[in-house]
Amino acid sequence: MRVLVISDIHANYTAFEAVLKDADGFEAVWCLGDIVGYGPDPNACVELLSEQPNLICVPGNHDIAAMGKMASESFNGDARLSLLWQQRVLSATSMDFLHTLPQIVEPSEKITLVHGSPRDPIWEYMLNTLAARLNFPEFNTDFCFVGHTHVPSIFWWDEEQNRVLLDIPRVGMPVPLSGRAIINPGSVGQPRDRDPRAAYAIFDTEALTWEPQRVEYDIKSVQTRILEAKLPERHAQRLEEGW
Ligand code: ZN
Repeated sequence: MRVLVISDIHANYTAFEAVLKDADGFEAVWCLGDIVGYGPDPNACVELLSEQPNLICVPGNHDIAAMGKMASESFNGDARLSLLWQQRVLSATSMDFLHTLPQIVEPSEKITLVHGSPRDPIWEYMLNTLAARLNFPEFNTDFCFVGHTHVPSIFWWDEEQNRVLLDIPRVGMPVPLSGRAIINPGSVGQPRDRDPRAAYAIFDTEALTWEPQRVEYDIKSVQTRILEAKLPERHAQRLEEGW
């Protein structure tokens, strides 16, 4: 089965649409959270996501906060402004969808899905090999797919040397998965690796391969909607620079 793995859509409908078109020919979608927050299109993104085939989705910190389940003070100034806006505009249908999401899912015996990390599904950032090392004992499957950092990456557990290696996989090059690894597809709607293109990955459940992908989208139109909604200008600016 070809699975489209996505994360951190962040209410960016244009980027999300571009990813779905570019990925073409997937049989399931696994989404690693932060569907809303930052961007101008939270309801449209929730709706489009909920229509995807064989969808499995976990919530991110922005989704939890948008539902009012977390103090908005946990977010920095601009993120908080955006969050309060999302709470105002989110429809009852979108809220209902977010409420159904479980924080950790094992869609197969080999895979765990979480937003942040296995030991802290909502908040912990998997940014370095130390964080990864501390998390390998915290899940039971071979592989754990995470989001939250907005940076495509693979942390490999090297059993022989008893260490963790960080790998930034090349776009379009399928990586054979073996041993154990913690893997991030990057962000659809707000990439932070200085590459502004929307990020996603194709996971092949039979071949056990992970193929990172990027696709360009109309950033200008999203920036216009961010400014029209009077959301922080910074969130428009960062899209074209990829941070
Ligand atoms: Zn995020």
